[in-house]
Amino acid sequence: MKVFDYKKLKEYSIFIWLIIITIITILSSAIFRQNTADQNIKLKETLDNIYLKKTLVEITNNLQPRYSTINYTSKSGDTYQSIIDSLDISKKEKQIILNSILSNKSLKILNINQKFFFKFDNLLNQKIIEFKIETDKKNEIVFFRTENSEKLQSKKIKKNYTKKLVYKETVITDSLYNSAINLGINANVIIEFARLYGFQVDFQRDIWKEDSFQIIYEEFINENNEIVDTGEIIFANLNLQNTDLQLYRFEYKKNKIDFFDENGKSIKKTLMKTPINGARLSSSYGKRKHPILGYTKMHTGTDFAAPTGTPIMASGDGKVTKAGWCGGGGNCVKIKHNTTYQTVYAHMSKFGRGIKKGVRVRQGQIIGYVGSTGMSTGPHLHYEVIENGKKVNSQKLKLPSGKVLKGEERKRFEVSKIKIDVLKSDLITKTN
Ligand SMILES: [Zn+2]
Repeated sequence: MKVFDYKKLKEYSIFIWLIIITIITILSSAIFRQNTADQNIKLKETLDNIYLKKTLVEITNNLQPRYSTINYTSKSGDTYQSIIDSLDISKKEKQIILNSILSNKSLKILNINQKFFFKFDNLLNQKIIEFKIETDKKNEIVFFRTENSEKLQSKKIKKNYTKKLVYKETVITDSLYNSAINLGINANVIIEFARLYGFQVDFQRDIWKEDSFQIIYEEFINENNEIVDTGEIIFANLNLQNTDLQLYRFEYKKNKIDFFDENGKSIKKTLMKTPINGARLSSSYGKRKHPILGYTKMHTGTDFAAPTGTPIMASGDGKVTKAGWCGGGGNCVKIKHNTTYQTVYAHMSKFGRGIKKGVRVRQGQIIGYVGSTGMSTGPHLHYEVIENGKKVNSQKLKLPSGKVLKGEERKRFEVSKIKIDVLKSDLITKTN
């Protein structure tokens, strides 16, 4: 952690002094070499100097690192208890840490991807001297030990990160993922981008040669000018066959954020067009006649060719009506979304955690993984939409958008949109 560079410098200052002393000693011995025995005695006295001896002892101690640090990022299924239990400290110390966390109101909920930092003093019995927990991208809480205290003090601090808005654009080559990675865009941002467009775009069939995208997103930079994290997508545009699909991030109510097109329509739909991680799908242009890709009347479904194990998402909120063997469809899941729509997902290699008949699922929740079970020529997702009991082409469905901004909200959106457009032209000018 770069935050401690200054402290480290302090710890090393003893070495700098030693080097200075050594240089002086060498110089003086060189200059006075031919001088009398008196001076030799003096030099011996210098080496016997009690202060120098003490310094040497301290240096030797410092050769074993006094402090060790651990960085950890919370994962799904973690608890404060499980994280603390993995530390190599006494039970009593663990309890002190846990109590400190539990008594802090801002740490009531442990989220996924929360960053932890622990610092230990290896020369003390009470090892933990400091730990930090990130509460959000810009804030963290530091717990530290004041002398001889059983309780840790805490302090909320603003991190020294600077938020930077980044603009990137490119033509999509084989897949969105590869094109974006080549531009240096973080994988999390690409996956989120594909998820947002998954409502209206079929990432396997709708991407053609020369299609392109633009994106503005947040990056967090530390004092050494290194990217430490990425934040939200602010704006994106996917240009498909010369049609712009723009999306603007907008907070329409306090803490209620969604993405809207330029007319203030939410991009969210009841069902997704690509219920799979679209970023990784390779576009099928050039091989559009591939037998398992594409929609035919006989087939009555849409196939997404993807590697085995690629997560499959529930295309809309609903209730699982089947999670089991479907004959030719192999392992399949059926979801009833409302009185009109049902969806089917076939050939799965395995089901998502907890997915069984009767369970309610949310849009975007992982319900299974791509496989090649049943009658299948290779790993792919077979996706069907059933409208009023009839199989329909999921890729031609015209679904109403979730929310349309009106009145005051619409006015604020227009202002926000103009600001983003201005920001975009600024960033484009800077980039070129
Ligand atoms: Zn199929």
